Amino acid sequence: MIKVAINGYGTIGKRVADAAAAQKDMEIIGVSKTRPTAEALVAVKKGYPVYIADITKKASFEKAGILVAGSIEEMVQKADVIVDGTPGGVGESNKALYEKYGKKAIWQGGEDHNLAGFSFNAHTNYKDAIGRQFVRVVSCNTTGLCRVIKALDDKIGVAKVKAVMVRRGADPHVVKKGPIDAVVLDPPTIPSHHGPDVNTVLPHIDIVTMAMIVPTTQMHMHAIQMELKRESTRDEVLDVMKAHSRIGLVQATTGIKSTAELKEYVMDLGRPRSDLWENGVFEASVAVIGKDLYFFQAIHQEADVVIENVDAIRAMAGDVKDPEISIKMTNESLGFVAI
Ligand code: NAD
Repeated sequence: MIKVAINGYGTIGKRVADAAAAQKDMEIIGVSKTRPTAEALVAVKKGYPVYIADITKKASFEKAGILVAGSIEEMVQKADVIVDGTPGGVGESNKALYEKYGKKAIWQGGEDHNLAGFSFNAHTNYKDAIGRQFVRVVSCNTTGLCRVIKALDDKIGVAKVKAVMVRRGADPHVVKKGPIDAVVLDPPTIPSHHGPDVNTVLPHIDIVTMAMIVPTTQMHMHAIQMELKRESTRDEVLDVMKAHSRIGLVQATTGIKSTAELKEYVMDLGRPRSDLWENGVFEASVAVIGKDLYFFQAIHQEADVVIENVDAIRAMAGDVKDPEISIKMTNESLGFVAI
């Protein structure tokens, strides 16, 4: 069993904890919290040992009914792989601790590529992560872009990508962030960081991205244009997407044409936390004119990177060398079949 610790049991961390706990070859040996929040209480109810950042706050946790297993440093010592789910920029400060005990660690997309020196996407570069000490799982948007670009590049060839990201303003539980009534260019300059971030995983892809933030919490929406290396057809592109275990097609017949309806759909399917682990490509939008491909895809910011973290853990632990085997193990253990 791979002993996994979650340092930063928040939006991403709590999901990775549940996904890793569902794997036959992984166990959660601890999760960490800074404050005795509702999430910390949930961790206790799920049976995850709770470790805390500041051990002097132990009494405040115990007053809230949360038994403290120890400090984060103690948790790190017990783990084989630490998934760092702390807020962007904070994870960097934990590197010295992981190095001190010679532990493997995974950071998220909020950290720079250089922190780990290797950025991960399971379908793209799993084999290069085997046995590594440090890995960064790219952000939700970059994960969604990498999956679809890599699949199309392998089967048809991708000459150039232009993508516009319409991003959610905040996650649903975040009450202090906006915008409430604005479309915010984020950033106003071009390219946004997403294109260069794709290049940390797929260095040969010619890509330019633009991004804005809008008042929604549900998901991100990508408007993607690709120049393929040869003429193709809509059916060929749809076949590539259908064959990918982490790309789902939002069937035109469902009439779904928004992130809200898509989230409702997977909620009705009984997905935990109504999570979309897959890219949601809108079938009706897929259009091919000669070498030019156009489509919309929705990306669930809280969810798509979760299963990538699970594969990254497995790759770093080193026992499963074949990406397809790991991806299948991850998907099946969650009962996940793309929509
Ligand atoms: P979050 O704020 O929901 O959770 C972070 C957790 O870390 C919280 O529980 C917080 O209490 C804890 N924490 C803060 N400082 C800590 C410390 N010093 N030691 C231990 N724990 C600490 O954040 P999130 O949205 O889960 O983001 C985590 C990472 O994942 C970031 O790098 C982010 O960019 C990336 N990411 C987020 C999303 C998203 O949409 N939420 C998507 C993809 C990637």
